[in-house]
Amino acid sequence: MLTIKYQVGCRQCLNGDGIERLDFYKYGKEKDFMTKTEYEVMKIVEQNNMQQNICCMFCDSKDLEYYEIKVEDYLLYDFERIGKNCIDKGEVMLMINIEKNGHNIKLTPGGTLPIEENNLRKSLRKIVSVINASPYHRFSMKERGSTFICTTSDELLKDFKIESFRSTGIHSATILGEINLFAAANGISYEDIFTE
Ligand SMILES: [Zn+2]
Repeated sequence: MLTIKYQVGCRQCLNGDGIERLDFYKYGKEKDFMTKTEYEVMKIVEQNNMQQNICCMFCDSKDLEYYEIKVEDYLLYDFERIGKNCIDKGEVMLMINIEKNGHNIKLTPGGTLPIEENNLRKSLRKIVSVINASPYHRFSMKERGSTFICTTSDELLKDFKIESFRSTGIHSATILGEINLFAAANGISYEDIFTE
């Protein structure tokens, strides 16, 4: 028996009750789950909750986001652990944080900055591909919104994976537009990162 713990927030009414949820997986192997990223387990949790028609307790919306996901008590997206691991092994970590307040939109990058151009291109390409592949419901518009996405490389700087992806209240076109501006400011063209 494997226990997955997480927090739930609502993208429609923006409420969260702060109560940690527990899901039990009968056939899961702890070690298999601990090697997955928060983003990978988030998709499993999301699918399970959708199948069970879990709704927001405040507004009945099914547009929920799942975060602070733990396997037993092992936090999957632990910024300190992942960041230190990247620095120790010479891997790349790119975090993109976008805050929207009305018409004010601000992108803040983070991670193992500065990132060499070729690796920055690969990181952004991974981020863009995941946003393009995400279901539309993750991007319903609100007056205020935020998006956080983190990608890391493997040791050979070849494959990039998504560690964490949270988004509330921002349309995907807005997110992609901001990423395009950030890429352009770093000498990377739209065509280089916008692949289907
Ligand atoms: Zn709600």
